[in-house]
Order: sequence, then C-alpha cells, then structure tokens
Amino acid sequence: MSNERDHLLPTSNGRNHVRDDISQEARARELRAAKVRAVVHSSLTVLFVVGVVVFVFLGLNNQWPWGGGLPKDPLKAVLRILDSAPVIDGHIDLPILVREFYANNVSAVDLTSPMPAHVDIPRLREGKVGAFFWSVYVSCPEDVGYDAGDDFLNASWRVRDTLEQIDVAQLLIEKYPDTFQVALTSQDIKNALTEGKIASLMGVEGAHQLGNSIAVLRQYYSLGVRYVTLTHMCHNAFADSCGFLKSPKPLHNGLSELGVALISEMNRIGMLVDLSHTSDATAKQALKQTKAPVIWSHSSARAVWDVPRNVPDDVLELIGTGENKTDAVVMVNFAPYFVAAAGNATVQAVADHVDHIAKVAGKNHVGLGSDFDGIGEVPRGLEDVSKYPQLFAELYKRGWARHDLAGLSGGNLLRVMEGAEVAARKLQQEGAQPAYDIYKKRTDIGKKREGRWSTEEL
Ligand SMILES: [Zn+2]
Repeated sequence: MSNERDHLLPTSNGRNHVRDDISQEARARELRAAKVRAVVHSSLTVLFVVGVVVFVFLGLNNQWPWGGGLPKDPLKAVLRILDSAPVIDGHIDLPILVREFYANNVSAVDLTSPMPAHVDIPRLREGKVGAFFWSVYVSCPEDVGYDAGDDFLNASWRVRDTLEQIDVAQLLIEKYPDTFQVALTSQDIKNALTEGKIASLMGVEGAHQLGNSIAVLRQYYSLGVRYVTLTHMCHNAFADSCGFLKSPKPLHNGLSELGVALISEMNRIGMLVDLSHTSDATAKQALKQTKAPVIWSHSSARAVWDVPRNVPDDVLELIGTGENKTDAVVMVNFAPYFVAAAGNATVQAVADHVDHIAKVAGKNHVGLGSDFDGIGEVPRGLEDVSKYPQLFAELYKRGWARHDLAGLSGGNLLRVMEGAEVAARKLQQEGAQPAYDIYKKRTDIGKKREGRWSTEEL
C-alpha cells in the first residue's frame, strides 16, 4: 500500500532553475485556465438555477410551454386534464330513481334524453365521467314501512329489493353497450376508459341490505357488487350508524361481533369496506380491523360543516400510508345539507371540503361521491353530472396541480381498489377461509346443532 501511495506524491528531489521557470509559466497558464473555468462554471450555475426556478414556477402554475401545456382558462385547462383522467364517482343513485319513477321498468327509461334528475348519458359525457358506482340502494326497513322486528330479524324484503336494484342496474348497463361497460376490477375500469366507455360498478348502501347474512355478502359479490357501506341511516346487526343530521343512541358502540366477521370476509373476497353513514366509533374500529384499504363512497368533512354524516378530523388523521394509518379515499358528497348552511351550498363550498380533506389526510386520499339522483337539492354550480369540471376549475384556481386533480378525479380510488384486490389475493394465498358466522339472534338455521330440531319440523 505505501509504495502505491509514494509514487503519487510530489517529490522535492532534483529541483533546478530551468524547471522552476517552466513551472512558473505553467502555473500562470493554469491560473488563467482556472479563471476561465470559474467564469464558465458560475455562468452555467446561474443558468441552471434560473432554469430550475422557471421549471418549478411553470409546474406549480400548470403552464408547461411544451407538450401537454394547458390553456390559461381554468375550465379549458381542467377539461384537458379530465380528458386523460376522467371522473370516477363513488356514489350515484340512478337505480333508486328508476325504482321510484319507473317501477324498475328499464324499457321506459331513456338515458339518451334528459332524465328527471341529475344523470343521463349526454350529461355524463359532458361532465367527463369515466366510471361510477351505481348505488343499488334500498332504504332502512322503517323508512319504507317495514317493521325490522326485534334485533333486525325481519330483514328478508331488503334482500329481495336489493336484488331488484342489482337487476335494474345490470339491465340499464346492458341497454347502452356503446356507453356503459361492466367493471369488476380496477383493471376493468382502466380498460373501459381506454375504450372510451363509462366503467360501471355497483355498491350496496348499507349492511341492512344483507339480511343479517354473510353468505348474502358473498352472493352480492358474485353478482358484481364491489362495495358495501357498513350502515345506512339505521343501525343494523353489524354496526352502528351516524344517523342523518342527528346521531342516534349507539347500539353496539361501533361494530358488533358479526360486524367484525363481516369486515374480515369483505377483505378476503375483495369487497371494499365503505364507511360513509357509519358512526365515528364504527369507522374507527373498522379502520383498526381492516386488512385492506377502505373508502368513504360519499362523505364530506365535519370540520367544514358540522353534521354527523361528515368525517371528523380525528378519523381523517387515521388515513394514510404511515404507521398506524390505513390507506383510504374519502369521496366528497355534494348533498347541500352536508356541505353548508341552508342556501350556502355552492361549488366553492364543495371545494372547501375537498381542500380540507386534502389538508388533513393528504391529496392522495380525496375523491368524489356526488350522491346525484339521491338528493333533492344540489349545490349552486354543481347541479348535475355535467358540472364536475366546474369543481375542478375551482380547485385549479386554488393552485391544485395537474397530478393532484387526476388523483381526485379517479386515480386515488383506483389505487385503493387495487390495494383491496391485492389484500384479498394475499389473504386467500395465506389460506383464509370463508366466514361461516351466523347472526346469533337467528333461530331459523342450525336448529339441529341447537338441539331444537325434531322430525315434525321437516
Ligand atoms: Zn347515502
């Protein structure tokens, strides 16, 4: 080692005057060269810094001067963004409108002409919609005059009615094959977008629609349903609801034992857990239980407008990808009574909810779940599905960057859905078995096991 180093070191031996002159000249030349190098170097540094500043400035203002540059006008700019990142809405109530206005007679429904409420094909196209969850909602039993009975045991009509809503969604999707395309996976959504179709998914809005049965959950999945909201506005056998504008007295203080089993099974089969409509306790417990990312299919921010239906900050803070956090997307609801005081719901007020969720949970965790066709009133400026670009233009004016707007429109939902698919595959590879938990209050199943069976009953 020492030899290798020695011959690289300068030597003081053999010095003479000639050599000194030569070395002085050489030193002067070197100095001049060094000066030139310094000037060139500092000029390049200045150029580099100016370049970076221009780059960042243009980036922040979405004004790239080269390929993909956006027009100055906010609306024109976001229309360009939405062309490549169309809207995926987490909650549209077209099927219940068809039930109520047309008695589910799909042949009487013309989605190519103006429909009575907020959704039809021309307006979906105008609004740059690329996908949506068709809510196959039926209301809580008591809201339609059914007596749910003690312990929700009288639940069977809700399953029938849900099947009717799944039927109507499927038939409407089939009726317009040039517009709609069934999507069962995140990849299906991407494929439909590539083909210029509107990817169509289904969501069940409340576990009261399960008839207290985890087997029904699996059957809904096999029919194409990809999320189940744990509750609607009523408590059910699985979980507590947040009610409507006032919270009801808790029943389970969050999830019931059966609710815990339900979440495990949803994770295993790849059914998204939807926490809209749930009580805060239900949401917090579900976030702890779930092994997959979750969604709020249509919920806004409680810090912006204080109603139980909106998500509080202490829940938003549990969302993310860090330690003790769960990946999720909160898809903002447009229903005026969840957005602002009476008369104040506007596109700007909805943007405030988006901004707040982005501030607390992060821009990767916010999406849109309008509730169109399920709400009587609408915000000013967001009157129907043709108006989503107005909301994007408002956020663009507030400084939202192109890629954040693309996340809001659908990228965040796609990531969460993909995460749930990966989690399900992993659980199944690990050998997770179907849940056979039976609601303990039921007396119509497993009688022999209970010792209550007799031949007379056959
Ligand atoms: Zn709802």
